[in-house]
Amino acid sequence: MNNEVLNYDVVVVGAGPAGSTAAYECAKSGLKVLMFEEDPVVGIPVQCGEGLSCFALQHLNIKPEKEFIAANIKTLKVIFANGNWMLVHDGGYELDRDKFDQFLVKRAVDVGCELMTSAKVVDFDLEEKIVKVIKNKKTFFVKTKIVIGADGSKSNVAQWSGLVAKEKWRECLIRAYELKMEGVDVEGFDMYFNFDIAPGGYLWIFKKGESIANVGIATTATDSVKRLERFIELKKINGTVLHKTAGAIPYKGPLEKTYADGVLIAGDAGGYTNPVFLGGISTAMQTGKLSGEIASEAIRIGDTSSKFLSKYEKCWKNLPLADKSLLKAAEIMHAFSPERWEKMGELVGKTDVTNITAAGKLKIILKTLLPKYWVLIPVIPYMPTVMKAFSITRKWGW
Ligand SMILES: Cc1cc2nc3c(=O)[nH]c(=O)nc-3n(C[C@H](O)[C@H](O)[C@H](O)COP(=O)(O)OP(=O)(O)OC[C@H]3O[C@@H](n4cnc5c(N)ncnc54)[C@H](O)[C@@H]3O)c2cc1C
Repeated sequence: MNNEVLNYDVVVVGAGPAGSTAAYECAKSGLKVLMFEEDPVVGIPVQCGEGLSCFALQHLNIKPEKEFIAANIKTLKVIFANGNWMLVHDGGYELDRDKFDQFLVKRAVDVGCELMTSAKVVDFDLEEKIVKVIKNKKTFFVKTKIVIGADGSKSNVAQWSGLVAKEKWRECLIRAYELKMEGVDVEGFDMYFNFDIAPGGYLWIFKKGESIANVGIATTATDSVKRLERFIELKKINGTVLHKTAGAIPYKGPLEKTYADGVLIAGDAGGYTNPVFLGGISTAMQTGKLSGEIASEAIRIGDTSSKFLSKYEKCWKNLPLADKSLLKAAEIMHAFSPERWEKMGELVGKTDVTNITAAGKLKIILKTLLPKYWVLIPVIPYMPTVMKAFSITRKWGW
């Protein structure tokens, strides 16, 4: 590599689900696409609970291949601190996330996208549309028409493009810590909304394979390691730790602006993660696809201006991931006192809400009028919002 400047139609920064889906769309439409990944091997290290709904793949016409599915999941349970739960019978998959990311990247490469690994984008000149890259200690530059920032929770492209300030972005991230453990038996995806141990987030035990599970926590508290240990003790989990991982998840909704002149931001980098379950693989693919489609259209008509690219934002704002109930519900839930959570669990009981009817929902709301649930009365006005957010999340949020 020398000092020459390479030329591409589209540069994609990051080869996660957002970047590879965006790159696939652009390359498929005949554009010259270069995708950078700073890690030497796509998908490694895995920093994920690896849970994905069946709908997420169906929606994008992706066949669930054996090569990236670790387990088929039948149940998703939201579990309260007192042990009561809500069961959702939607199908899902426990992925081998590294294999899944590699599958998505191969799909993009097969239609013509070029991939460069161990290549870190270290700067972006918004005026000139030139990215600066370091690979094997050598620096080079690439001029492009559009940059798709799919660089995950680091979100540097958005910062270089003036779409978010570093400090503000930091406030949008919640910490997550996870152990892959052997000797843990779980039926499907168990999500523990226990705000004493995991304020601001939740804990999870996801079936990964025979007696293997991903056990994790996302919390606004700073001592997530200790808190997860407390949970493991409480649940009397006696497994062997096979792998540890940690990361940050955007949890405050999408950035106020997700495009600039020649720039689109997709996936975690744009903050699209579902605020209720904190799932971000599906939303990364949804926004990756959309950003790729809009970038392709912009280049085809020769207009990569901010004005034209604003179409991206108009489009994702029409997707369920942008529904205002999601953030509102997360805010409401996290503001509940432990007492309210306990009562909420009591109210819900042990219920399968998979096909809950409007009458069923109304029955739950009316039950709060019983004296023992009076502590929940202030919550009644918000219940339709929370219920709406859960039904969107079930399908679109993981
Ligand atoms: C512990 C944990 C558990 C989670 N569990 C789940 C779950 O069970 N289900 C779910 O749906 N979501 C889960 N998430 C969230 C999910 O992992 C993310 O939402 C998802 O990976 C977002 O995809 P992405 O493509 O936007 O970003 P990423 O997958 O983060 O990909 C971004 C890529 O960009 C690369 N990159 C970054 N900067 C540069 C640069 N400057 N130059 C080149 N490359 C760069 C990174 O190396 C990375 O490969 C979890 C997250 C964490 C931290």
